[in-house]
Amino acid sequence: MDNFVDPEEKVMCPYNPAHHIMRKRLNTHLVKCKKNYPDTKLVECDFNVIHKIPEPELQYHHENCPDRHKIEISIYQEAGVEINKFPIHNIHVPTDECWDDLNVPTYDPKKYCESKEILRHLDVASAGQRRQFRMEERRRIGQLSNISSMKSDRPMSRASTNSTPGPSNRKDLPETRGHSMAEEAPGEVENLLRRIKSEANQSFRLVKK
Ligand SMILES: [Zn+2]
Ligand SMILES: [Zn+2]
Repeated sequence: MDNFVDPEEKVMCPYNPAHHIMRKRLNTHLVKCKKNYPDTKLVECDFNVIHKIPEPELQYHHENCPDRHKIEISIYQEAGVEINKFPIHNIHVPTDECWDDLNVPTYDPKKYCESKEILRHLDVASAGQRRQFRMEERRRIGQLSNISSMKSDRPMSRASTNSTPGPSNRKDLPETRGHSMAEEAPGEVENLLRRIKSEANQSFRLVKK
């Protein structure tokens, strides 16, 4: 970018060349510094005659004058310069797809939840009705999980967060292994386990005495 100005760049104060100020702080500095030069001549701004600017500040004001763009726009329009710097290009998007032609039934969330293993929750009902609903949910999900476990081992999804977990949730837990460690331990480990057991029994007997 050509007209980029670094706000951190040090610039010279127009009143006193000994003052070197960061560009972003110059405005504040000028307000204070001009008080030291009360006799400075006031001149008109090129962009708006109402602006009366102390002569040393004129260049700085011209760079930042709020009315500058009004004049510049008319200059650029006369010169035929493209003002729109970031034009939006017309992108061709193919539109062969038409969803209106698809003959698909409307999505019914109630029906969908009923046919899937989604735990539903009844909020606005009497305690008895809610209890009844929970029991029915349990039965429904139990049946569905039986069907799906025959098909595959997909984990169950849940729609409600604050409801009690149904019995079918148990299939999410890792399977417990029915056999003990000693069963698959080779001879040496087996001996070690036997020794630990007998020592434990002995110390237990000692404690009893
Ligand atoms: Zn100054
Ligand atoms: Zn001005």
